[in-house]
Amino acid sequence: MFLVSKMSSNRISIYGLFGFPVGHSLSAPMHNAGFKYYRMSAIYLLFEVRPESLKRAVDSLRILGIDGVNVTIPHKENVIKYLDWVSKDAELIGAVNTIVNHSGRLLGYNTDCYGFMKALEEELGFSPMSRSVFILGAGGAARSVAYALVEAGARRIIVTDIVDRRAIKLVRSLQKKRANCECVAVRAGSRGLYELLLNSQLLVNATPCGMKSSDPSPIPKGYLHKNLSVFDLVYNRNTNLIQSARRLGLKSTGGLGMLLYQGAKAFELWTKKKAPVDIMRRALKKSLGGERG
Ligand code: NAP
Repeated sequence: MFLVSKMSSNRISIYGLFGFPVGHSLSAPMHNAGFKYYRMSAIYLLFEVRPESLKRAVDSLRILGIDGVNVTIPHKENVIKYLDWVSKDAELIGAVNTIVNHSGRLLGYNTDCYGFMKALEEELGFSPMSRSVFILGAGGAARSVAYALVEAGARRIIVTDIVDRRAIKLVRSLQKKRANCECVAVRAGSRGLYELLLNSQLLVNATPCGMKSSDPSPIPKGYLHKNLSVFDLVYNRNTNLIQSARRLGLKSTGGLGMLLYQGAKAFELWTKKKAPVDIMRRALKKSLGGERG
């Protein structure tokens, strides 16, 4: 039996994920592999937290002495009001994906930005400085991606989402952040939308389109061009978008690298130890059953 005590000197550190649902998550094997590498008495658990229970779940971090959690859909934005402090990035993005319990003070961070930028550099060798980027989707993930790109000096960011007001809201907040980045929201399905890709050097799919094998590529044929790099945030499979990009010989990557590096950053915030990235990557790939995202 597991005996978990706040006071015991050989206590088990508890980390986890708050989300709804959480069953699909790959974070537990990834973090548990990291803890095992350091022979830490620590465990990462999945907590299914319904929206109406979020406040009580956050309070329980203090009450039970849980050391830290990741936060995912649908809580990334709503959780902010229950925290004692949030990092500047997380505040600007309006989303927290990592909470550190620092002696009862709950600190909120966003590590998705870091994860995206690290994977962008490592897997695509892409520098956003003065480049034009086309982002599909304006939800939580797109917000982190867009802020990271603005911060890294992108010249132009085009955002489109089937929910038009989401794209407009994101673009407005980006414009406040850096006036010299041209940020444009374009209505999904509008004429000329995909032509905008022709002057872009990076395409980011930040929609769930591609998660199912039956999902078509979100970009119609003929708009992927040789100067375009493609980053698909979907990580559970090789999407049709990535397959098309590879057939054309374009630089492309799925979302596994971003998932890995957002997790690595969270691991470091919690444990103050260097994340064993190769071990964590292996655990992720193993839990995907060999499929590459
Ligand atoms: P989200 O909050 O639901 O946002 C996605 C947005 O895209 C929604 O507004 C959605 O509209 C819209 N959309 C769906 N299909 C579209 C299409 N074909 N064209 C334009 N817009 C479309 O989701 P999220 O949390 O941002 O996540 C998006 C994807 O990123 C998911 O696949 C998620 O697994 C992935 N992700 C990956 C990582 C990583 O580390 N690799 C991290 C975070 C998220 P509706 O709401 O009407 O569908």
